[in-house]
Parts: sequence; structure tokens; C-alpha cells
Amino acid sequence: MQYEHVLIRYGELALKKRNRKDFENQLIRNIKKALYAYSKVQVVRAYGRLYLELHGEPYGEIEAKLRKVFGIHSFSPTRFIQSFDIETIKEAALAVIRDVEPFPKTFKVVVKRPNKQFPYLSGEMNREIGAYVLRNTNNLTVDVHQPEVELRVEIRVEGVFISCDTIPGMGGLPTGSSGKAMLMLSGGIDSPVAGWMTMKRGVRIEGVHFHSYPFTSEQAKQKVIDLARILTQYSGGMKLHIVPFTEIQTKIRETCREDYTITIMRRFMMRITERLAQQHGALAIATGESLGQVASQTMESMYTINHVIDTPVLRPVVAMDKEEIMQIARKIETYETSILPFEDCCTIFVPKSPVTRPKLELAEKFERELDVERLVENAVNGVESLWIDPVASEEGHSFF
Ligand code: ATP
Ligand code: MG
Repeated sequence: MQYEHVLIRYGELALKKRNRKDFENQLIRNIKKALYAYSKVQVVRAYGRLYLELHGEPYGEIEAKLRKVFGIHSFSPTRFIQSFDIETIKEAALAVIRDVEPFPKTFKVVVKRPNKQFPYLSGEMNREIGAYVLRNTNNLTVDVHQPEVELRVEIRVEGVFISCDTIPGMGGLPTGSSGKAMLMLSGGIDSPVAGWMTMKRGVRIEGVHFHSYPFTSEQAKQKVIDLARILTQYSGGMKLHIVPFTEIQTKIRETCREDYTITIMRRFMMRITERLAQQHGALAIATGESLGQVASQTMESMYTINHVIDTPVLRPVVAMDKEEIMQIARKIETYETSILPFEDCCTIFVPKSPVTRPKLELAEKFERELDVERLVENAVNGVESLWIDPVASEEGHSFF
């Protein structure tokens, strides 16, 4: 059957009474953005629900897009009829369950009747529809406790919605309903996951990537563009700021004690990201930092690095094991790109034995040899800001 309607449920939003309108509006904007290519689709608001009118656009493709929109609890491809004639409703319900593949052995009918003008009660409709379906199918029985299929019939003011299939959505909150953060995006596994988790809580993100050309290759930069593009599937287009980091890394290497180079480099990254946050109206920074994964990820290191900025830092993966992070990376489809071998600016200047418990006083002392302000200023002035769309428009940009 060609479905013409999709019913969308958004559980968590219903709880947030005061902000509900804003959240609904944001969700509608995000759905429209995700379905941009399907220009005939209409989004309709209906008391605590949304539904889509597809007007012939392909349901299968639209389902794949909706699965990635934060704030959707679940959705169902739905038959919509504008008739309240009971025979018509029964026939439509039968057609919907007949369409299920593979055909189920058990089912139950769930009728909801928000339209109180409708002359029959839910219980009566349940029995009527159930009996009609049983009469017109083979090998199907009713199981009210654990049915394979729930045949849902919602009798609303605007018409009757009938569906069998409920697809779980991403959950979370609509991106854009909780402000903006700068995501420090490396080419690794953790930071794209951190970005996705931040977006899941409704935060819009802009990416910041530090690039040390020619020590790091164009491919390394392209990899980060590709990762950002995968993230845009969940958020719509996003900005990605590429920061030239070669001068700073070179100066640090020339000037600072070798075991502190990584710590000092990270302190520069924080300062620059904070500047960009201020320029672009973001109130937080998100990173893929975790504790204990590598020698440089210790509490002392986090303290010494964090000390140079006042902006809150969100570290959504700090509580997770590597295996859990990798699972999410696979689910959100960043994993395959993250494991490509192109070197990151951090791996290129790795000292033989980086300090595991960097002291704030020592980091500050070594930095005194550098013109920190000027280096930060130069880097910020050299930033290249890209707009990343869900679909690559330029030739040569890879698309997954
Ligand atoms: P990832 O998998 O995200 O690279 P990681 O486990 O390798 O993380 P680190 O290399 O210690 O961790 O980096 C910690 C965090 O610092 C990263 O998650 C990322 O947010 C940020 N970061 C590191 N390198 C860069 C870079 N070149 N550009 C932007 N952010 C970076
Ligand atoms: Mg890394």
C-alpha cells in the first residue's frame, strides 16, 4: 500500500508544558528541514501530535529521514480517511493489516476516540473492527496481551487514522531548542559521538577543527568535513570552522619543554574555541574528552587545560567506556569514517613521553615564552568557515 500520511508522536515534549509551543515549532522546522528534498510533503499540527501529508512523495525515503530527527518519540505510516462511515473504516482497517509483511498470527485492535462526536464508543468499535478483520482473513487470532501487531485506529475530528507499524524515533529534544555549543571536532571516534549526544539534548552545534597543514594532509581535513556532514543528517546544515594551527604547534615545539607540548597545545585549542564561541554566540564548548583512555586524559590534565577559559565545557562521553562510544559511533554512522588512517594534528607532534599529570604552574611558566595573545589572534583571524550541507554540493566531496 502506498501510505499517504505519517503520524508523529513526540513524548518528551509533552512533559515540558511551558516551553511546549517553542519545542513544537522547533520540531516542525527540523522535520521540514530534514524533508527539504520532498517539497510536496506538508506538516500538519494536531493537538499533541503532528502528521505529514505525503502527496505522493516516497514513504520509504521519508522514513529513513524521520528516524534521524531528534525529538520524535515514534511515528507510523498511516492510512487516513475522511469518512466517519463505519463500513468504510472497517474496510480501511482490514486493508492496513493485510498489508503487514510477514503476515502476523495474532493482533489486537486499539481504538482511540478523541472525536467525541463520533457515535460509537471505543469498545464497540474495537469489537466491530476486530470481528470484521477476523471474518476476512485466515490464520489470524486475537491476542490482547502480546499481539504481534496492534491495529491502531484513531478517530479524530479531522478524520480517521489507521496504522499497524510503529517506528521508534531518535528521542531527545529538537535540535535548536537548547541554544548553541562549539564542538571541538577531531578526526577521531569520540568527538563526533560527543557532538551527536550534545545535539540530542537539543543543542545546535558548530564544529571547530584544528588543522596543521602541511604537517597534516588535505585528506585529514576532508575526513573532518565528512564527519561533520554525517552529523548534519541529524541536525540539518552546520558551520565548520577550520583553524590554522601550524604556527602555534611549531612555536610550541621550538619553545616549550617537550613533555608539556600536548598540554600547551590543548590550552591553545581551548582559548581559540572560546573566542569562536563568543564570535558566534555559543554559550558552551563540547569535546570528546574522556577520563583515563590515554595518558593525557587525566583529571590533572583536564584541570590544567580547562583553566584557560571560563566557558562551560560539555563532555558527554566522559562517563562512557570506549566500547559504548564505539557502539554509538556505529549506530550514527561516523565510525567507518573515524577509523580512516589520516593523521590528526595531535598525533603528529606527540612527544616521546607526554606528562600524565601536568602542573598548572609549569604549563603557565612554559607558556610565558610564547606571545600567547598574538598567536591566538592570528589563528582566529585565519579561520576558514565552511557551511556543511547534508548533501555534498561540490564536486569531489565524498558522500556516504
Ligand atoms: P577523539 O576520538 O575525538 O579524537 P580522543 O580520545 O582521541 O578523542 P584526544 O585526542 O585526547 O581524545 O582529544 C580530546 C578532545 O579534544 C577530542 O575529543 C576533541 O574534542 C578535541 N580535539 C582533539 N584534537 C582536535 C583537533 N585537531 N581539532 C579539534 N578538536 C580536537
Ligand atoms: Mg583524537
